[in-house]
Amino acid sequence: MDYTLLEMNARKRLALVAHDNKKPDLLQWACDHKAVLSQHELYATGTTGGLLEDKLGIEVTRLMSGPLGGDQQIGAMIAECRLDGLVFFWDPLESQPHDPDVKALLRIAAVWNIPVACNRSTADFLMTSALMNDAYEREVPDYHAYQVARKDDV
Ligand code: PGA
Repeated sequence: MDYTLLEMNARKRLALVAHDNKKPDLLQWACDHKAVLSQHELYATGTTGGLLEDKLGIEVTRLMSGPLGGDQQIGAMIAECRLDGLVFFWDPLESQPHDPDVKALLRIAAVWNIPVACNRSTADFLMTSALMNDAYEREVPDYHAYQVARKDDV
């Protein structure tokens, strides 16, 4: 498999998502890392984004609510190389109406090798990584041959 490098800028484009039972945890985490988060470009699913704006006063581009398609919007942004990272506090103890979308989002994040934090400790490591403040070359499989073989638009 050949690989290609995709450039991430020092200012990262990050998506933040939390299921309802995890929203308080995400808000507390975002509060603790507000100084770092404010240096980056933030996106969030609808309700999560509204809470972040109201409680922390940070600027967030709000997508649709998760169950209405917000997770899929984030997945599309990842596939189009318009996101550099995902903090996704999904609830391991409660099933969601949009569980297929949750799985799809985690899958597409793996396909495109973006950093994903699904719990507080990983998200803490992410925020305190030196790579948050530097450009970074993300290695992804070179899907060009795959697209040509499938006669996709390339
Ligand atoms: P919400 O969506 O921020 O609109 O609640 C989160 C989700 O369930 O994916």
